[in-house]
Amino acid sequence: MESNLDFDLMASEMASDIRDGNRNLLAKAITIIESTRSDHRKLAETLLEKLLPYSGNSLRLGISGVPGVGKSTFIETLGIHLLKHGHRVAVLTVDPSSPKTGGSILGDKTRMEKLSRQPNVFIRPSPSGGALGGVARRTREIILTTEAAGYDVILVETVGVGQSEVAVSHLTDMFLLLLAPGGGDDLQGIKKGIVELADLIAVNKADGNLREVAEQAKQHYTSALELLRHHDKKWKPRVMSVSSLEDHGVTEIWNTICEFQKVMTDSGDLKSRRAEQAVNSMWNEITEVFLSLVRHDPETKALALKLEASVRSGTVSAASAARRLLSQFPGKPNT
Ligand code: GDP
Repeated sequence: MESNLDFDLMASEMASDIRDGNRNLLAKAITIIESTRSDHRKLAETLLEKLLPYSGNSLRLGISGVPGVGKSTFIETLGIHLLKHGHRVAVLTVDPSSPKTGGSILGDKTRMEKLSRQPNVFIRPSPSGGALGGVARRTREIILTTEAAGYDVILVETVGVGQSEVAVSHLTDMFLLLLAPGGGDDLQGIKKGIVELADLIAVNKADGNLREVAEQAKQHYTSALELLRHHDKKWKPRVMSVSSLEDHGVTEIWNTICEFQKVMTDSGDLKSRRAEQAVNSMWNEITEVFLSLVRHDPETKALALKLEASVRSGTVSAASAARRLLSQFPGKPNT
């Protein structure tokens, strides 16, 4: 086990290499960030503290949509545009399907082939294992790390299956939802709540014989959005159509993203949104660490198992069992 001094030295060296653009080291640092080993966690936290002053200088864009809607095609086309304009692009994925099934919806190697060969692009698939909360928690740290490495557009991709969108919208500045043409009223199995999260909706595949259907879908979603109340009045969510395959409308989408960034920066909303996200992430961390303490400390775990049995058999109420367990810890629960 290294001493604090060793951790500090290691983290300083890593931080400086990452800032110098060493991609192998960036990848290695992310592996350490994702690791559950306690020495890795300690190193990761020391490293993040060193990188934090150099982070934040990017646009963080969440991108979601059901499998097959064209996320990777869109990201590839957008990414190539961004590179031409001198940006450095990181693509991070949050894929809640990977930990349980072993097979991932997002993670196969053939995705974004053109983009992955570019020197100014860093693509990182989802960390595997753990609950979505844990995955999202590390994704936030990975965003900060890639920013310190000089990537100025961070695309965080997720599959449209529910909770992961909410997690990603808490990690990013803007949330882009990709929809396929002809989805109709069911919103293509995407819950209405996700549409409400979107700052921008793009109806993809607006080409060939799908073009007209895409335009109709665009009208449909525009009216649907009119009916939703927008919590953020500085920006009214928009609907656009795009062909990622034929590269029509991608520039317009990027211009809209930049407009969003300007509006939100000028109003101060972006700064307060990020500050709020950082505080939320602190509380998530406290919850996760506290729960792992409860689950792993042998005495607390034994008590928890006993209480679980009593709750299951109906002899103790859930609330009083929870309170009994919490009374093990300093401070008295008062609710
Ligand atoms: P993902 O699962 O959301 O990442 O979707 P992919 O990017 O892998 O695309 C799924 C399929 O849709 C592929 O066969 C793509 O070629 C096709 N596709 C993606 N974008 C477009 C588009 O703009 N127009 C058309 N016609 N097909 C597209």
